[in-house]
Amino acid sequence: MNREEAFNLIDKKNRTQLFTRADEKRKKQVGDTVTYVVNRNINFTTKCNINCSFCFFSEDNKKTLEVETVLGKIEESKKKYGITEVCLQGGINPELDREYYFELIERINEDFDIHIHAFSPQEIFHISDGSVEKTIQQLKKKGLDSVPGTAAEILNDEVRSQICSKKLSTKQWVDLIKKAHNNGLRSTATIMYGHVESWEDRIDHLFKIKKIQNQTNGFTEFIPLPFVNKKGKKTTSFLEDLKMLSISRIILGDFIKNIQASWVKLGVKNALESFYFGVNDFGGTLIEENITKKEDREKLLPEEMSRFIRKSGRIPKQRNTLYEEV
Ligand code: SF4
Repeated sequence: MNREEAFNLIDKKNRTQLFTRADEKRKKQVGDTVTYVVNRNINFTTKCNINCSFCFFSEDNKKTLEVETVLGKIEESKKKYGITEVCLQGGINPELDREYYFELIERINEDFDIHIHAFSPQEIFHISDGSVEKTIQQLKKKGLDSVPGTAAEILNDEVRSQICSKKLSTKQWVDLIKKAHNNGLRSTATIMYGHVESWEDRIDHLFKIKKIQNQTNGFTEFIPLPFVNKKGKKTTSFLEDLKMLSISRIILGDFIKNIQASWVKLGVKNALESFYFGVNDFGGTLIEENITKKEDREKLLPEEMSRFIRKSGRIPKQRNTLYEEV
């Protein structure tokens, strides 16, 4: 699939072909199983000096959690839900020094048998003291297991200058994620679409992700994230979301076989429908998530995830962060 073929497929007249091909590829690449992870999201600081135009943090109560509080939340979720992953992401808080981040990882690693999925490329960039690679290695040594591939938004500097001008550049994001992969930290890959970008920007983004994967094989899954404004409203139609999920499966599925629907952004009902449009992963239970203002659910319980998947006609399977069976 080259760029021209991709553009052809997203044309209105080829919609049936787009959806059919995505579903066929999904079936061939991953079958009828839909996976999910039992995890807990912890936003350890909601203070941020980056002010991205879409982020709910800038309106939230500003707070930073003590390391002990984070540990308490993990303990509670392990007991209550049996989480296998903790996902730590926070704002870019100038008051937090790198020692806080290191201590957080080290203490979690000491106290729990759990996968630590933490710190977006933006956060790693923030805490690195000039050497990103050294910081990645230090974090890994403390116990970091994998990295969220967030802060990618659209990997195009013109678009970035309009929606997140203070974030790292396309080149910085790509270099950092490749360094993480090359140092043994796998990551997710994301796109945030539906704001100022064009379909051309979206398709280019997918090909950039594919190129990185061909070099490092470090991405575990691809997660298209529709833009949700500060009032909690998704700005794309569901039809557009399905086109985005389908074209992601078609372009990336041979290289990144897991395409995830974000139930936080799409809503649970839409996420379940997307299993027929290239999706094979339902994401995580999350328990709490604060970046997006929500009108829908705050969390899904493990048994709900499994039940919803089955009701949608798919076979549920719990996975860990690296897509191994639990
Ligand atoms: S998306 Fe991240 S960097 Fe941007 S304002 Fe929100 S927390 Fe800060």
